[in-house]
Amino acid sequence: MVNFVGSSLLDSVRIKDVTCTACGMLCDDLVVARALNSNTLSVVEHGCSRSAALLQHPPAKPSARVHGKEVDHASAIQAATALLQQAKQPLIAGLGTDVQGMRAVLRLADHIGATLDHMNSAAMLRNTLVVQQSGWQVTTLTEVRNRADLIVAIGTDIVSALPRFFERCVWVEATLFDQAPAERDIVFLGGRHDDLGFASSPDGRPAQVLPCDMEQIPELVAALRALVTGRSLPVDQVAGIAMQDLQQLAQHLREARYSVLAWSAASLDYAHAELSIANITGIVSQLNQTTRSAGLPAGGSNGDSSVNQTSVWTTGYPLPNSYARQHPDYDPWQHSSAQQAAHADAVLWISSLDPSRRPPPSDTPTIVLGHAAMQFEQEPAVYIPIGTPGVDHSGTAFRCDSVVSLPLKPLRPSPLPSLSSVILDMEAALHASQKGDAHAD
Ligand code: SF4
Repeated sequence: MVNFVGSSLLDSVRIKDVTCTACGMLCDDLVVARALNSNTLSVVEHGCSRSAALLQHPPAKPSARVHGKEVDHASAIQAATALLQQAKQPLIAGLGTDVQGMRAVLRLADHIGATLDHMNSAAMLRNTLVVQQSGWQVTTLTEVRNRADLIVAIGTDIVSALPRFFERCVWVEATLFDQAPAERDIVFLGGRHDDLGFASSPDGRPAQVLPCDMEQIPELVAALRALVTGRSLPVDQVAGIAMQDLQQLAQHLREARYSVLAWSAASLDYAHAELSIANITGIVSQLNQTTRSAGLPAGGSNGDSSVNQTSVWTTGYPLPNSYARQHPDYDPWQHSSAQQAAHADAVLWISSLDPSRRPPPSDTPTIVLGHAAMQFEQEPAVYIPIGTPGVDHSGTAFRCDSVVSLPLKPLRPSPLPSLSSVILDMEAALHASQKGDAHAD
């Protein structure tokens, strides 16, 4: 239910406790104003530039299109269904949606034997491989807020992935266990960041910065792991960082009561980056023998956490996976969009949260169930506009720490259908067509 707090002006209404889906933090404290005459939305309290971008689109219901020609919804559903029915290797990709949308997608994939992959799967896979190969000890945003006394950001400034991280989780006024948040120590290890003023403590103490190029992160985290384990390295520096500074950081980690090592899988964009993540989680594991430490995979966008969680609890497997053999089949290489692009004979691209995430250029017939503000350089075979969960209709989303799910409230009356209702229409058309075929036989 939408929580209205009255209107300061007669021409708008304020909605409080709005959850933002523009990044994996899912901040749930936004206050949003809705103009009564136009139903346009604006963030009036809390939020950040990404939340403003999420809500900036005016309500609109463009027509569905088939080969660029405007058609009614039913005709677009028929055209999309016909394409999927003819396909021998359909691919459902993009997957920018929430839990309810993904549940409908899984049903459809099972029905048509499709392969599934998310637009962020290359980054997601770097984390998934570590979970599968060695397991990990990771924490939640709430634990960071209440317990962390040392935060080491590795190869990331964190705020590029989670813009309000320091505001909501670090420089807070109070914690549950009387820890003084202003005394926290922040270290940026690796990467090169322009402006880290947001990471200075409220009394002006700057973060420690140990920079290096991203390509040198592998050797840096391997060295830090060796030092935390108690080994010595016969070199003066690693990746341009003085050995003395690394030894001090290893000591700091061993002495901290609750250290958090954060990374962003999207930033670690080099071959076999999962090995760097395994070294980071290996440091955490080593530290937990004598103190307390946890990893924090910072990131999440376009519903990747929600979609992956829904896949895991429904099928037992993360993405990408495939239903081509009538059962869930997990193979992160064979079923990736990059591999499937060469084999798929129909693509269903879904992007309900971000209109800029379009399907990659392709000669394969493509159906787009997409944001109403989407503009195409290459017109898809079929385009059906859908609403955004948490803006046009209700939904559920998972936070980047994967243990907290939050309800999403509609913020305005909207003519746009949800992804799950469009998929229901497609399933009805598929059933009707299959029944017709059976009668004809
Ligand atoms: S930090 Fe993320 S979830 Fe919070 S308001 Fe900004 S974009 Fe939205």
